[in-house]
Amino acid sequence: MTRIMHEMSIAQSIVDIAIQTMEANGGHVIHAVQLQLGLMSGVEPDSLLFCFDIVTKGTLAQGAKLEIETIPIKGRCLDCDQEFGVEDYKFVCPKCGSHFIQTISGRELKVATIDMD
Ligand SMILES: [Zn+2]
Repeated sequence: MTRIMHEMSIAQSIVDIAIQTMEANGGHVIHAVQLQLGLMSGVEPDSLLFCFDIVTKGTLAQGAKLEIETIPIKGRCLDCDQEFGVEDYKFVCPKCGSHFIQTISGRELKVATIDMD
């Protein structure tokens, strides 16, 4: 239940952003919201879609589709500057074996575009 609450509050803030953006642009209907969601964001896409449908009901965003773009995890080696895709949460540089890895993508949770009229 706490997990759903987490996704519910995220869905609510996505809807808030979408409606504020629409109003700022003089729009009147939201067709879709594209969201970038990193694999390390800790957000379950299915739960988020479920919550999005609930929180949009009765709002200006009702009927809008939430389109989730999953962002893979990428790291950069702090020893040799190599950038690489991280699989199975193995934060080890494939080039030099270093464990000093900076996460450069995979934590995203942001509204990329809003499709509206
Ligand atoms: Zn390295």
